[in-house]
Amino acid sequence: MKYDVVIIGSGLGGLECAYILSRAGKRVLLLERGAQAGGCIQSYRRDGMSFDTGFHYVGGLAEGQSLYAAFKYLGLLNLPWQRLDEGFDRVMIGARNFVFSQGYDVFAETLAMDFPAERSALKSYTDMLMYSDKQQLAALNPQADESSFPADLYERSAYHYLKETFHDPLLVNVVSGTSLKMELREESLPLFTFAHGNSSFIESSWRLKGDGSQIVDSLLNGIRKHGGEVICRAEVQELVEKDGKLVAAICANRETYEADLFISDVHPAVTCRWVKQSDKMKKVYRNRIARLENTFGMCTVSLLLKPQQLSYFNWNQYVYKQPDVWTFYKENHPVSGVMISCRVPEDGSQYARQIDLLTPMAWSDCEAWSDTAVGRRGDAYKQMKERMADECILLAEQAFPGLRDMVDKRYVSTPLTYRDYTLTPEGSAYGLRKDYRNAMLTMLSPRTPIPNLLLTGQNLMLHGVHGVTMTSLFTCAEILGREWIWSNIIEK
Ligand SMILES: Cc1cc2nc3c(=O)[nH]c(=O)nc-3n(C[C@H](O)[C@H](O)[C@H](O)COP(=O)(O)OP(=O)(O)OC[C@H]3O[C@@H](n4cnc5c(N)ncnc54)[C@H](O)[C@@H]3O)c2cc1C
Repeated sequence: MKYDVVIIGSGLGGLECAYILSRAGKRVLLLERGAQAGGCIQSYRRDGMSFDTGFHYVGGLAEGQSLYAAFKYLGLLNLPWQRLDEGFDRVMIGARNFVFSQGYDVFAETLAMDFPAERSALKSYTDMLMYSDKQQLAALNPQADESSFPADLYERSAYHYLKETFHDPLLVNVVSGTSLKMELREESLPLFTFAHGNSSFIESSWRLKGDGSQIVDSLLNGIRKHGGEVICRAEVQELVEKDGKLVAAICANRETYEADLFISDVHPAVTCRWVKQSDKMKKVYRNRIARLENTFGMCTVSLLLKPQQLSYFNWNQYVYKQPDVWTFYKENHPVSGVMISCRVPEDGSQYARQIDLLTPMAWSDCEAWSDTAVGRRGDAYKQMKERMADECILLAEQAFPGLRDMVDKRYVSTPLTYRDYTLTPEGSAYGLRKDYRNAMLTMLSPRTPIPNLLLTGQNLMLHGVHGVTMTSLFTCAEILGREWIWSNIIEK
């Protein structure tokens, strides 16, 4: 059977494209190499409890906000979302804990109480965030011209912008303090990426009651309901080209799937390798992709707490070792900052049983074990994981004293874990690094030199659940048209 579209990789991007295209009437097949779908947002079970991997919170879900229309169309608003407290993120630097509030005006007002001399700077900061928020969707408007692409934000340094906007260096660090959800790299981070990583969460912030696999299951059900097919343990190894167009995807088990169109949710450098000896996939494109660098990975320490030890907290806590939150990337020093996320108790208890501690981790800290098979990495790797866990807990104790004694069990994942489970090069958490100095080269279009091969997912424009969803809309717009996406999803 020949499909209209074969989608490779069932991360959020692949799932969303499969949902949109099958609902639009296309015959869709989704191929996933892993045993379960979801990529970075899949969950796993230990000791009868489920744990999340790459999903903790999402922004912009309230009616009229930036993710509302897309999530409504995707059927994801029906999931048990829990809105975080008005003070949804807290940033601890030294002994002070700064609060991020939901709503742009309240956000600026709350921080102005700590930084009264910066009131008008905070207002222009939130204006910039709102502008960036609007531009993401505006670029899908069929009436939009090229100018709706926010080149002014993309070609500008986030770090320079913050230094120019705020006089107090502490405020620069505070507003950057929830940015473990991106790579705070002084010399490259575009203002657009920084703004996107903050704006939707300030609109409104949400956690799921239960694990992130609910997103995956809901999308899988929707795809199947609309006639789409999903096959797991189907690792694509080759894309066959004929007369300048792709005709089939071949899997490791030699199963072959034919289609008119192919979408890859897999890292673009890996995707390029599947198309062998192509004139269309010219050397210049392959080399350009191969030269792009990846963002850091993440070390996640998932803690199972003893019962009735820690009250559930309905916000995220960030804690930094030193005032300069941009330090990690300068000194490559692990565990200089940690994000602490609390799982909503599913039994309605006031006490938390699960919290996650996340800290950025460079691939170079894992590379030594990269050739070793999973499960055979030996004592040195285990010791390194235990060391990371100890350091994360120590830092988290600044906000939650005595945490160490509340822990019943702990499970640690590193960039190597992601590399092995999702085949993401270098276990990168947020895909290819964007660089304001090289905006047009580092921000990839869904289009490739092969007319019927498209890309999607976090490597293209934006990362995270919000960013990948935006990217899915752009990828599907290449097939269905911007008018279709605008009138059926955004305006509906
Ligand atoms: C620790 C961590 C915490 C995070 N927390 C948050 C958060 O709280 N909020 C938020 O918004 N975002 C968060 N993110 C980011 C978010 O999870 C990602 O941006 C998003 O899930 C990426 O989706 P994707 O579709 O681009 O790619 P991926 O999830 O990487 O999916 C790619 C898929 O392709 C499959 N694949 C690979 N090779 C092949 C092949 N040859 N054949 C077939 N299939 C293949 C993989 O198995 C995988 O399923 C976090 C990420 C990490 C790592």
